[in-house]
Amino acid sequence: MAEFPSEVDIAVIGAGAAGVGAGRRLAAGTASFALLEARERIGGRTWTRLIDGIPSDFGGEWLHSADRNAISPLAEPAGFSLYKKRPEWTTRLRNSGCTLEEEADWLAAREAHRRAMRRAAEAPEDRPASTVLVPGGRWNPLFEAISTWGNAVELEKLSIKDNVRYEDSGLNWRVREGYGALIAALGSALPIAFGAAALRIDHRGTRIRIETARGVLRAARVIVAVPTPLIASEALRFDPVLPGKIDAAAGLPLGLANKLFFRFDHHLAGIAGEIFAVGSTRRRETMNYQLRPLGRPRVNCFFGGEFAARLEREGLEATAAFAGDELAALYGNDIRRHLVPLGRSTWHSDEWARGSYSYAMPGHAGDRARLAAPVDERIFFAGEACSPNFFSTAHGAYETGLAAAEAALTSLRPRVTATS
Ligand SMILES: Cc1cc2nc3c(=O)[nH]c(=O)nc-3n(C[C@H](O)[C@H](O)[C@H](O)COP(=O)(O)OP(=O)(O)OC[C@H]3O[C@@H](n4cnc5c(N)ncnc54)[C@H](O)[C@@H]3O)c2cc1C
Repeated sequence: MAEFPSEVDIAVIGAGAAGVGAGRRLAAGTASFALLEARERIGGRTWTRLIDGIPSDFGGEWLHSADRNAISPLAEPAGFSLYKKRPEWTTRLRNSGCTLEEEADWLAAREAHRRAMRRAAEAPEDRPASTVLVPGGRWNPLFEAISTWGNAVELEKLSIKDNVRYEDSGLNWRVREGYGALIAALGSALPIAFGAAALRIDHRGTRIRIETARGVLRAARVIVAVPTPLIASEALRFDPVLPGKIDAAAGLPLGLANKLFFRFDHHLAGIAGEIFAVGSTRRRETMNYQLRPLGRPRVNCFFGGEFAARLEREGLEATAAFAGDELAALYGNDIRRHLVPLGRSTWHSDEWARGSYSYAMPGHAGDRARLAAPVDERIFFAGEACSPNFFSTAHGAYETGLAAAEAALTSLRPRVTATS
């Protein structure tokens, strides 16, 4: 959108998956609308970059719960192709230095852990997820590492009650051209003003006044679809202040998960196709790996939590050295000479995200509903953190955008009052 609009019915702040969901719903209606996006691109925490000609997802990559995922059915009609092979993230540990017996033991422990989480969620008090671990348990480091990948945070900082609400159908697909590219394509026809960071939402008057880096936009309704740290830190301010929203956003911080990409033009002896591996099942500071994902000449590394924050500070070289050591321990030293670091994500220092995906702190399981609730039927909220069951995901974000747009449109319709 070259010109910056001055007045619309509905303004959407943020053009990530949630903003794109909202925009697509609004585009099907008659209300005027515009999206305000701080960056120069669509997609936010989904972002596909071409490296060596290969689409590389720096953020969201997997269509989780693919059979219940609102974005899945949109991919092929938009010209994208889906890769539906099931990943063996932690269902198989035999490529991670474990025996078949150990793998079976792990799967039993994982099932027991799931049940223990559900039981703990029934307790009156919302405890940290670390309290569910069996003291001294063989698999505790792996449970802890998995939490830093799946929740982007350590178990001791994670609400049990919130975490068990996450729904996972077990089906995970990838987009060959990249998930970020798909979200960008889904938003490509929307009226988006780029470089238009919203700074202040003045909702004192009958029209809401949104101050942005590109000027002022007035709207009857606003959908706020930005990551929680922007609300909690008041980088985006409300006037009058909305203390309930600041508190709810602060209870749902973004944890950190990052990625590192290696060129890897090599086949490991005796192993065909793509491989999923865990660096170590004995320490929590470890990465998980996709070797030759989709058969491509790559190793993609994924890691999270405080460990990821430390590596983000230390830089690409230190991150690549850590991954190289873990891969050499698993597959032999020769693998090192086939690994060429290509790039990494740095979501903690990303000004418009400030992290990777939201988790609820212990005692804050109610914050998603508090954040998602509209204010005066004029200010609506969307984004992955608002999703009750698909939080931390792109499809969860997308669904909240659809719902916020629907609610905003309904609020604009003249009310019919019953007469006796
Ligand atoms: C490393 C990593 C791996 C992931 N893996 C997966 C995965 O495999 N599958 C999955 O489903 N999800 C995954 N996710 C999570 C997923 O990417 C996010 O949950 C989802 O994209 C969030 O969408 P959103 O619209 O809520 O927020 P965002 O994508 O963050 O969009 C918000 C938008 O608002 C903009 N913005 C911020 N502040 C302002 C402002 N003041 N004014 C205007 N605009 C502003 C931002 O620039 C951004 O574009 C991953 C994320 C990361 C980082």
